[in-house]
Amino acid sequence: MATTGKVIKCKAAVAWEPKKLLTIEEIEVAPPQAHEVRLKVVATGVCHSDYYILYEGGKEHGFPCVLGHEGAGIVESTGPGVTRFKPGDKVIPLFVSQCGECQLCLSDKTNQCVKNWTVDEKNMESKSRFTCKGKVIIQFMGTSTFSEYTVVREVALTKISDSAPLDKVCLLGCGISTGYGAAINTAKVQPGSTCAVFGLGAVGLAAVMGCQAAGASRIIAVDINKDKSSKAKEFGATDFVNPKDYKKPIQEVLMEMTDGGVDFSLECAGNVDVMRCALESTRRAWGVSVIVGWVDVKDVSTKPVDLICGRTWKGSYFGGWKSVQSVPKLVSDYMDKKIKVDEFITHTLPLEKVNEAFDLMITGKSIRTVLKM
Ligand code: NAD
Ligand code: ZN
Ligand code: ZN
Repeated sequence: MATTGKVIKCKAAVAWEPKKLLTIEEIEVAPPQAHEVRLKVVATGVCHSDYYILYEGGKEHGFPCVLGHEGAGIVESTGPGVTRFKPGDKVIPLFVSQCGECQLCLSDKTNQCVKNWTVDEKNMESKSRFTCKGKVIIQFMGTSTFSEYTVVREVALTKISDSAPLDKVCLLGCGISTGYGAAINTAKVQPGSTCAVFGLGAVGLAAVMGCQAAGASRIIAVDINKDKSSKAKEFGATDFVNPKDYKKPIQEVLMEMTDGGVDFSLECAGNVDVMRCALESTRRAWGVSVIVGWVDVKDVSTKPVDLICGRTWKGSYFGGWKSVQSVPKLVSDYMDKKIKVDEFITHTLPLEKVNEAFDLMITGKSIRTVLKM
């Protein structure tokens, strides 16, 4: 390609500092180095984790940065040593790597990889291929999909079907895969079980979809936004509960509804109090509760006795999927109509309107906004 080996100037939404609106800037994207791939981002979803890092989270991810980790695109060029990708390939960047060789990749107990971007947070600047106005711009999670072009490491990229619609399957780069996998891989929801899902954004709705796929017979969807009720039922929820409709704690309501607690619960709101409610809503003797919501600046707590008697509290990162090998299969599952994706997309906007996409999410008006480049 004409751009191979050259710096590409393109548009990106830059987060200069925490708690400030993103601004559209022209950035320079350097050519990929060894074992890196430069891609043209075609579309990207806007996930709550992007919002969280900007407005609520710790500063350790670094600013200025380009956010975005739910994208899909086309390979523009490859760095030395890259064998699995070639220009023109359709790809999804991955915020969880899968090098396939490390101790973690070789274990079937985890989807973590020692080469995860965040393992090496001290070298954020040297790993970035972005500059703007003479400054290095950090690549959030190594993906930075709020940019027309980005550079990712080959261990954090996967090739998908040539016929996949990139403006849809980008959502499999995070939210849908996360919630769906949290129910199937992490909670290991069983046929005939009763489940509760707290928080019905894309992640929670995908968890509802996962509970249904696993054969749960009752799925109680919980959200403080009453407008999420009909969407939850479309994804397979059998009941909808709004905690605001009750004076007593929501875990007591669920205990009564289920005569002793649900078998599985999933927290997809990103709130430490809700995490505790989700745990305490499960059956004391064997309930399994999975934390999916992202919080890195607060502690979570419960009474030890609530675990001693038999409950299990777990967390799920990217739904437990080993990323490189699983995402192309999830794309195929979508194309074979085995999992929903289109139904999550409520808004499509240009990159320039990224701040509007955050507003739509935070005010509960959207499930997912897809930004098209
Ligand atoms: P979202 O903002 O679209 O949805 C969150 C939902 O939670 C909203 O419907 C909101 O009304 C609801 N909610 C808020 N407070 C609540 C409460 N007290 N009780 C019940 N419901 C409540 O977010 P999303 O993009 O679906 O992401 C959900 C969470 O998952 C976020 O915390 C995000 O950072 C996290 N996440 C984690 C991973 C992971 O790998 N673990 C990956 C992606 C996202
Ligand atoms: Zn995400
Ligand atoms: Zn690895």
